[in-house]
Amino acid sequence: MEAKHYDSIIIGAGPAGLTAGIYLSRAKAKVLILDSGVAGGQMILTHEVANYPGFESISGYELSNNMRKQAKNFGCDIMSGISIETIDFESDKKSLSLSGGKRFTSDTIILATGGRSRNLGVAGEDNFKGRGISYCATCDGDFFTGRKIAVVGGGNSAMEEAVSLTKYATKVTLIHQFDHFQAFQHAQDEVKANPKIEVKLSSKITSFNGDEKLESVTVENLLTHENYEIALDGVFIFIGYEANTDFLQGRCIALNDGQEIITDANMQTNIPGVFAAGDAIAKRYRQITLAVAEGTIAALNAMEYINKHKSTVSQPVY
Ligand SMILES: Cc1cc2nc3c(=O)[nH]c(=O)nc-3n(C[C@H](O)[C@H](O)[C@H](O)COP(=O)(O)OP(=O)(O)OC[C@H]3O[C@@H](n4cnc5c(N)ncnc54)[C@H](O)[C@@H]3O)c2cc1C
Repeated sequence: MEAKHYDSIIIGAGPAGLTAGIYLSRAKAKVLILDSGVAGGQMILTHEVANYPGFESISGYELSNNMRKQAKNFGCDIMSGISIETIDFESDKKSLSLSGGKRFTSDTIILATGGRSRNLGVAGEDNFKGRGISYCATCDGDFFTGRKIAVVGGGNSAMEEAVSLTKYATKVTLIHQFDHFQAFQHAQDEVKANPKIEVKLSSKITSFNGDEKLESVTVENLLTHENYEIALDGVFIFIGYEANTDFLQGRCIALNDGQEIITDANMQTNIPGVFAAGDAIAKRYRQITLAVAEGTIAALNAMEYINKHKSTVSQPVY
């Protein structure tokens, strides 16, 4: 099968990848966006986005749909549900193949594969995934209407989702291993003010228990080492993320110890013509605004790279 050529191939169709696609295709570059899941990335898991400028409140689904349509209308080809089989970053002409045999080449690649929720790694976790254990309040919160649940974590996601889950659950026990939370103060204040939330600091779940579905968790008080059981129907785990860079491990793209992609301020990786943006890169904050900004920077620099290598593509439109 002959390889189809693009000016840029973007891997990942979250806000970073879609923004990069919008900028590049608007500059008349030929762009292919590939996603192993569905376009939208983590935004699709987000019930409400209230901190994206221009929208006081918008569902993550609607925001991702808007971005996807905009990228498509500017001319990006978007393929969802793909699996990358081979990839060559190092040649001047980059190339990749998908399982099923489709092959593509490009002048530039933008890596925008985001991240995913981290597992707790506790006995019983795998058994009860989807049968009481969830990593997405928006997807599964409604299943726990009128029930007792726990939320694990102490960052912004854990605290915001604990509050949002009180819409469904009769009681939310918030379990965190440290003696303080890491979340923004306003998120902590909302938790404190919510009578449905009970906080258990310096505590950790040591096992998930049940038969067909989750029935209880065993919790250890890390100060007294006392173990006790909490009867509940569900546990939502929000303890951070891992960059989706498994497919890059052992390849030429430089990653840090956390397996996040290392970029410079131009979103350039260590390989010329390969850029990266969004939650997959090494950085402190992970937000849609940042993914969008980095997608923009990656696209503008990719465009400059393309123009240097090829004179037929127009200048970027700012
Ligand atoms: C529950 C929740 C609530 C959130 N709430 C907010 C909020 O209110 N405001 C805010 O600003 N941010 C919020 N965030 C964070 C925000 O969603 C992320 O920072 C943002 O989506 C990151 O964008 P991204 O494009 O880098 O990656 P992602 O959104 O993770 O998208 C990456 C895409 O790459 C695809 N992909 C992964 N690996 C591969 C591969 N090997 N090949 C091809 N495709 C691949 C994935 O399927 C995915 O579609 C929230 C996140 C979560 C989980």
